[in-house]
Amino acid sequence: MSEVGNLFDKYHKPVRCARCGGGMIFKGVGEYACDTCGYIDYDDYGIVRNYIEENRGATVVEISAATGVSQSQIQAMLRDERLEVSEESRVFLKCVGCGREIRSGMYCPVCEKLAAAAAAKKRAREAHEAHKQFISGYENETRIGEDGAIRFRRER
Ligand SMILES: [Zn+2]
Ligand SMILES: [Zn+2]
Repeated sequence: MSEVGNLFDKYHKPVRCARCGGGMIFKGVGEYACDTCGYIDYDDYGIVRNYIEENRGATVVEISAATGVSQSQIQAMLRDERLEVSEESRVFLKCVGCGREIRSGMYCPVCEKLAAAAAAKKRAREAHEAHKQFISGYENETRIGEDGAIRFRRER
C-alpha cells in the first residue's frame, strides 16, 4: 500500500464489493453498501464500533485482538469522538488536563471548560495584537506619505 493510500484510507474502507466486485457506497458510521448487490461491508471504524456494541465490557486490548485494528488506531477513534464507549464499558481514556477517566475526546468536562476559556482568552489577545499592529501600520503609512519616499528609504 502506498503512503498516499494510507493517508486517505486510514480506516481501510472497502472500495470493491467482496461478493460481486461492485462499487461500495458510504452509508455512515463505518458502513458501506454495494451499489450492485447491496452487500454490506465495514471499514475499521465500523468493525470496531460493531464489536463495542456487541461486547460492551471489552477493553481496548480485547477489541484490538478481536478486530485486528491496532490499539493506537482504536485510541485515535475514541480521541476523535467518533466512538463513544458506554457507561458500563471498561474502555477508558485519560483526561489530558487532569488524568481523570473520560469516555471520549481529550478532556473531562471540568478541563474542557478550562481549555475553552483559555482558548477564548488567547483568541482575544491575538485579536488585540492584530488590531494594535493594524493601527501602528496605518500610522507609519501616514507618516511615510507626509515625509515622502526619501525618508521612507532611509528609515528602512
Ligand atoms: Zn456486490
Ligand atoms: Zn480533566
